[in-house]
Amino acid sequence: MKIAVCVKHAVDETELRLDPGGRPVLAGAAGKMSTFDKNAVEEGLRLKSAHQGEVVVFVVGAAESKKTLKEALAMGADRGVIVAADPMAIDALRTARILAAAIKRSGPYDVVLCSEGASDTYTGQVPPMLGELLGVAYVGYARKIEVTGQSARVERSLEDSVEVIEAPVPFAASVVSEINEPRYPTLIQIMQASKKPIEELDGEEIAPWGSSGRVEVVSMLSQPSTRKHVMIEGSPDEAAAKLVEALSKEGVLK
Ligand SMILES: Cc1cc2nc3c(=O)[nH]c(=O)nc-3n(C[C@H](O)[C@H](O)[C@H](O)COP(=O)(O)OP(=O)(O)OC[C@H]3O[C@@H](n4cnc5c(N)ncnc54)[C@H](O)[C@@H]3O)c2cc1C
Repeated sequence: MKIAVCVKHAVDETELRLDPGGRPVLAGAAGKMSTFDKNAVEEGLRLKSAHQGEVVVFVVGAAESKKTLKEALAMGADRGVIVAADPMAIDALRTARILAAAIKRSGPYDVVLCSEGASDTYTGQVPPMLGELLGVAYVGYARKIEVTGQSARVERSLEDSVEVIEAPVPFAASVVSEINEPRYPTLIQIMQASKKPIEELDGEEIAPWGSSGRVEVVSMLSQPSTRKHVMIEGSPDEAAAKLVEALSKEGVLK
């Protein structure tokens, strides 16, 4: 079975700082593998161990995205493909077009996995667009995937229900975090990952922009917060009394 897994090198939201105007400081911001993409890689590895074959990971982004690719290789993927593109200048459709072109070049694949949404921008648009561009069936929000021959049985995690569907192979899917527990690579696996093959492609070359329009993010601001920072000091008894007094003053305790 040939399995493609799309992994995004996302902005690390836990490290992200805001400027005084509430805008994220993106220059020099730390990046990491998009949180739920670890579940997509894990699911790819799980399918490979059940059916044998190959897991190929794809990332579209700047040169530092290779870090994410190497993490996926350390988890156990066989090889990687990095497609160069400026992450601030590509929208969801462009990302999907570049991924589709890269996947078609090295395919065909039986299963194409994404996660339900990127942990930084979380549009959730790339996976369904990718399924459409590849011309295969698409299943969103998968929490269990079982492939038997040329058919897959997939449980979809919807807000208040679980839907079970059958899809023909090949298919594309987005996974939710409850699908599995991603493995942690060992030191040896991390070292071995540096020897695994990585193909380098150029986004503009494999999927020329052409005349397609572009979605532009015109503003990105944090929600205004009116949170107060009140430090209460003293012995536990004094601090507890001051806390009750402060909460009563705010109207939290009556
Ligand atoms: C601060 C900031 C500003 C931006 N400004 C603009 C702008 O002005 N104009 C613009 O067009 N775009 C801009 N972008 C980029 C854009 O918003 C998204 O990165 C792009 O639309 C993809 O959507 P998503 O990341 O939300 O993907 P989702 O659809 O939420 O991702 C779902 C899954 O698709 C796969 N996937 C998504 N992206 C990739 C990838 N790059 N490589 C491999 N797999 C992937 C992963 O499996 C991921 O889990 C900006 C991004 C940021 C962080």
